[in-house]
This record gives sequence, structure tokens and C-alpha cells, in this order.
Amino acid sequence: MIVGFKGCAREVGRSMITLGSMKNKIDIVMDAGIKLGESIEYPTLSKEQLIKMHARDIIITHAHLDHAGYLPHIISNRLNIHATKPTRDLMQLLLSDYQRLQKNKSFSSKEVTLVLSRLKQHEYNDRFVVKGYNISLHDAGHIIGSSMIRAKKGNRTLLYTGDINDRESRLLSGCEMGLSAQTLIIEGTYSGKKDMLSSMKKASKQLVEIINSVLSRNGKVLIPSFAIGRGQEILMLLNDFISSGAIPKVPIYVDGMIKKALKIYRYNVIYAKRELQLRILMSDEDPFKSPYFKVSRKKNKSDVLKSGPCIIVTTSGMLTGGPGIIYFKSLASDPKNALIFIGYQAQGTLGRKLVDGEKEVWLRENGKEESIKVNMPIYNIHLSAHADHQGLIRFIKKIKHLKTIFLVHGEEKKLLEFAEYLNTHKYDVRVPKLGEEFKI
Ligand SMILES: [Zn+2]
Ligand SMILES: [Zn+2]
Repeated sequence: MIVGFKGCAREVGRSMITLGSMKNKIDIVMDAGIKLGESIEYPTLSKEQLIKMHARDIIITHAHLDHAGYLPHIISNRLNIHATKPTRDLMQLLLSDYQRLQKNKSFSSKEVTLVLSRLKQHEYNDRFVVKGYNISLHDAGHIIGSSMIRAKKGNRTLLYTGDINDRESRLLSGCEMGLSAQTLIIEGTYSGKKDMLSSMKKASKQLVEIINSVLSRNGKVLIPSFAIGRGQEILMLLNDFISSGAIPKVPIYVDGMIKKALKIYRYNVIYAKRELQLRILMSDEDPFKSPYFKVSRKKNKSDVLKSGPCIIVTTSGMLTGGPGIIYFKSLASDPKNALIFIGYQAQGTLGRKLVDGEKEVWLRENGKEESIKVNMPIYNIHLSAHADHQGLIRFIKKIKHLKTIFLVHGEEKKLLEFAEYLNTHKYDVRVPKLGEEFKI
């Protein structure tokens, strides 16, 4: 087997890894993502190159755009897309949104429809054959329907994790452990030595304390979140806080995208953890349809902003756009309110500036710059959907027959640091550079 790294090499974003048996011929493509930033970056293989190299099958680990967003750019009638059902449903939502928001209009809704019509659904652990490879998908615990890909040909077995979370969350039961593979391609978003995420219990306690103190002084709590994955987890958590009496019964305002994805989670609850399924089955309570979840009826969010104490869960997760900006502008100057970040804040984003303690920020809109004074307290409580340093080690140690590890989907410094740690164990560890190929 030859593995090629066409993206996600020493970076987070544009995931694409190829498998083949000879040079310049691709048997399988794993993930086809984009890298969102000031401008969008794509994997190093173009649509034409993929055709030239006879690529016909693309397996998608999960719906996030850094793993599936390249599909409408390269789709044609000759491609087969393989994924789980929740990945398909979430892709429909995310790719349509991406199509609407793209600036250079490089594809239309036709391509999005074609992606979905070329998609073959597979269940976790079912085997299917692609170009002589035995393939199976395994629960990755990251978002609903997220999978790891296991590919076996002859006596070679490879496992690609996509994004994984080894810990149980409000909705999911954590990734499958103990698979067997000689070669592992694993993500390293939080692989750095210092990447230690606090337990759900500790994070919940902190959240309850902050929310209670804001609500008791009649303030509003703003929680920016990624639309898919974290958005649904935080809503489940807040609903449980209210049900158990940990926080008062206040409205929780939710954005359109987060609400739509919540519906998709509900339809696909069979892919969520057993405890949640039983809870819906055995009681009248359906946490997905909480009476506390409300939607703003106004584009300028004036209905929410004029209302009393409440919690607002909104996109984008790093305050780089979306309704989150509207809320932030109105709430920032009043120390009664508070802002809680629950995910990673990338360098250069407004979210990062706020986490770093900036008390005055400049926002640009329609060519005009506006200064915003930040008097509300800012908190950073990680509820990550990725395994941390220790979690990745636990996962790796459980893999049977493992010899070679490739580290991808992480900042270069972290991946190199993690490789150094793993090298002192019995593994052969590589941190591939963009475009590199390896025979395994
Ligand atoms: Zn992801
Ligand atoms: Zn990712």
C-alpha cells in the first residue's frame, strides 16, 4: 500500500489521505476537506488530477467541512462517496450552508445534490469492499455518525481515525477502542504535552457557577459554539442543568443552524449513546425538544437583546462571523453579562483576542471600523470533541499489532512533540509533510 498525504499534514484542516498500490494510481481517498481561514485552502489534488489517477471512491469520516467541504468542488458522476447516515444528513446541512456563504461561487446547489446522490451509506462495523480492500467504519465518538476507517488488503491493515474523542460525552459514548492495525494514521489536535482537558464534571461545575452568578445579577450569558457537535452537547448540558434545578428556568436562545443540526441528531439518535436512547424511550421527556430552547424571530436579535436574563448559544465558535457578532457587540460593554468560550480559539480570531484578555477590540463591518469596549467577563471552559494528550496515548496503547504511526491534523509543534514522546516507545512514528507518500 502507498499512503499519500494531500492535506492535514502539519496543520488542522483540508484533510485528504490517499491509498493506492502503485504510483500515480489512487484506489481510495479518505476525507476531502477544506481549510477555512481568511482565504480557503484546498487539498493538493485537483478534480482533474483525481480523474487522471483513477480515483473513484471517497470515504468520509465525518461531516465537518475540514473533512467533507472539498466534495462539491470535485464531485462528478464517476465518484462514489461512502459515509454513515448521520454524516450524510449533516453533510446536507453543512454543504448547503457552505454553498450559500461561499464568496467566489465555485460550485452551486447542483453539486451539493450530486454529492448526496452519489453517497452510499454504511453502518458501523459492516464490511464492504472497495477496489479489493476490505473496509469497515468504526465509531469515532467525535460528532454523531463520525467514523474511523479501517482498510485491509492482503496481510496489511490500516486504521485512519479522522477526528476522535475517547471520552463519553452527553450524547456519544466515545470512540471504539482495541481495534487491530499495523499502521495507524491518527489526529493530533490536542496531542501537545500540555494539552490536558478538564473532566466533564469539573467543566460542568464551573459552568453552573458562572451561569448562576450572571443570572442572579440579571445578565445574559453568551456561549459561542461550533454549529455541529459542541452546539448540541452544550444544549443537552444546559437543559439538564435546568431540569435538575442547578440553574434557574431561563430561556436558552439557539441559532438556526444549531437547531437544525439538533433535529438531525434527534432523527439519528440510534447512533447516539444507549443511555440517551433509553431516556427518550422510557420517559415522556425528550431533551432534544426542551421547552427552554427558543429561537430569535428578528434578524438584528432585538427580541433576545431586549428580553430578561437568558442564555444564548450561537455561532460561530470563535466569533469570526455569524449571529455571535451581533450579540457580542450589544452585550460586551455591560459587566452584568458574561461570555463563555467552550472550544478551541485559533490565533488571529476575535475569540482568541478576548481569551487573551484584550479589553478593547476593533470590528470591521461594511468597510467601517468600530471599537467595542469589553467590560463583561470572558471565560474559557473547554468541552472538547477531541481526545487530549493522555486520551490519544490511551487509544494508541490499546491498538493491537501496531507498528507504524502517522500523525496528522494538528499544529506542527504539537505533532513533533508527540512524535518524540511516542518514538521513545516501540513505535515507528512519522509526521508527514504535505504531499509526502509512504510505502507501508
Ligand atoms: Zn471534526
Ligand atoms: Zn477535523
